[in-house]
Amino acid sequence: MGYNFDDCVEYVRALAKKSVCKRRGVACMIINKVSGETLSWSTNGPAGDVPELCSGIKDGCGCIHSEVNTILKARNTGPCLRDRRAVMIATRAPCVPCASAIVNCGYIGEFIYLDPSEPGADGLAMLRRFGIQVRHHNDGKSDQQLKASAV
Ligand SMILES: [Zn+2]
Ligand SMILES: [Zn+2]
Repeated sequence: MGYNFDDCVEYVRALAKKSVCKRRGVACMIINKVSGETLSWSTNGPAGDVPELCSGIKDGCGCIHSEVNTILKARNTGPCLRDRRAVMIATRAPCVPCASAIVNCGYIGEFIYLDPSEPGADGLAMLRRFGIQVRHHNDGKSDQQLKASAV
């Protein structure tokens, strides 16, 4: 049981490059830690993924963040999970509004981010405040830890 963490990391990284947002590419996926089932995955981006709807303006390109997009796409599966047994893997640390969405969706108990260079300390603090486990992924080193925690 469980899931292949390295495969997920590879997938999320590749997915981020497919975002149609002109500002940056970010991606997430949500996985049931117990069954290994992938619930959803998504990039950041505009409504309907229509490229013209991203204005490209630095602080307001109009795109929805990948965390919220991924939660929306898990709307039929995520809410059925018990015990906050889902993990979200994201290419970067979340902003505060996205961290709030992760808390409020009610089924994510762990958050793993891949890119340490992005600011997101306030979002991570918000997750921790509500008891969500936060990890930074070090390539090639987290697999064991993750398997241990996925029981
Ligand atoms: Zn955009
Ligand atoms: Zn965000």
